[in-house]
Amino acid sequence: MSTTATSVVDIDAAGIDAWLDANWDPDLPVRAWWARLATDGLANPVLPPPFGRGWPRSRANDLARAMVTRGALGPPAGLGMMLAAPTLLAHGSTELAERFVPRILDGEHGWCQLFSEPGAGSDLAGLQTRAERDGDEWVITGQKVWTSLGQWADYGILIARTAPDLPKHRGISYFVFPMRQDGVEIRPLREMTGRALFNEVFIDEARVPHDHLVGELNDGWRVANTTLMVERSSIGGESVAAPSAAIPGTISGHLDRPAGSFANDVPVLGEGMVGPGRVKSLIALARQNGTIDDPTIRQDLMRLHTMLEITDWHIGRMKSGNAATGGEGNLAKLRNSDVTRLAREVAGRILGPGATLTGPDAPSGGRLQEMVLFSPAPSIYGGSDQVQRNIVGERALGLPKEPGPDRDTPFRDLPANG
Ligand SMILES: Cc1cc2nc3c(=O)[nH]c(=O)nc-3n(C[C@H](O)[C@H](O)[C@H](O)COP(=O)(O)OP(=O)(O)OC[C@H]3O[C@@H](n4cnc5c(N)ncnc54)[C@H](O)[C@@H]3O)c2cc1C
Repeated sequence: MSTTATSVVDIDAAGIDAWLDANWDPDLPVRAWWARLATDGLANPVLPPPFGRGWPRSRANDLARAMVTRGALGPPAGLGMMLAAPTLLAHGSTELAERFVPRILDGEHGWCQLFSEPGAGSDLAGLQTRAERDGDEWVITGQKVWTSLGQWADYGILIARTAPDLPKHRGISYFVFPMRQDGVEIRPLREMTGRALFNEVFIDEARVPHDHLVGELNDGWRVANTTLMVERSSIGGESVAAPSAAIPGTISGHLDRPAGSFANDVPVLGEGMVGPGRVKSLIALARQNGTIDDPTIRQDLMRLHTMLEITDWHIGRMKSGNAATGGEGNLAKLRNSDVTRLAREVAGRILGPGATLTGPDAPSGGRLQEMVLFSPAPSIYGGSDQVQRNIVGERALGLPKEPGPDRDTPFRDLPANG
């Protein structure tokens, strides 16, 4: 089998299994396997052509399941696929989308999200990182934090203040930011899982070409809201793809490894996510150690399964254009926090004292332990549970806005962190 060309099998005519029979080969380098997926619009098949195939979510789900069944490496995962691609397609120029999205889909570029700052998380519009125009470029200075996968990113989606004289939501712009340049220092932060998923990023007069602006100048808050909406519904369970432990981009060194060599590695975003696969592994573990006979454990496993099914219907309704409130993504993210907390409690009861052990010799190879240690994170990233509730209250239920600084006061006149 050639390592570069995709086979000529038309997946819509021949079916998913025929396409995988002809194309999946564990000996292919990751780069070649991902190129095959991307060339046939299967890296993210729900995207419209030419990037995807315009498939409904259910068909993308069928592909993901078929890939898991045969142990095929999933498409490039991470923040390029989850956040940058949909935002560029919604707000970027045609030139920006055509330049960057294909390299996200074939995994050649890794991406990160440069939004949060030490003084701007929930109050993201209070960000201090500034961008100043210098001819055809912007000069960026500031500090970002909690930048997941930043240490392996070729590019970041970055928001920075371009007009401090305008009110805080109206003077922000959104850029495609090249990470590998002078003036960018990335310091990994270790979490209690033992892994360093996220980083501090110090930016000192780094440069961005003007044509990397996404959307209009000073309209970055609107663009960022698209990213945040996509992020919340993705965390809530919208994305469907087979899992991948290969980190996209030129820095991790994964592109040249055989695609079949990742079968036992940790997925790109760690072991923290709780989806149907995790519930199945909890059920298998409970069967194995006999705790399945405990009716309260059985009941909670069923509750977990039910919560995930309902979330899936909820997302399906949202995707079919029948969203009733506009807060569906926020609700899905809140539900994900509940699912994670319940999974953590059940895992603890199934494993007993074994839940405190980490490492490959521990029960479940340490995977559930990592999920337990990671479990506080989903109720924080992508906007905390409290912030999701504020948004649902204000935007979906029409409740009065929280008191805060005057939305018409120029940013430079606001008290710092006010
Ligand atoms: C694992 C992980 C990965 C992350 N990855 C990224 C990333 O890749 N890129 C990125 O840009 N950011 C990332 N983040 C940052 C994340 O978006 C922020 O942590 C989050 O938005 C909260 O901001 P903060 O940490 O500054 O907390 P704060 O905003 O200081 O909030 C502290 C507490 O106060 C509460 N609070 C604050 N304001 C209100 C309010 N108005 N009403 C009610 N309660 C409120 C919050 O709910 C929270 O409990 C990540 C975070 C985590 C945990």
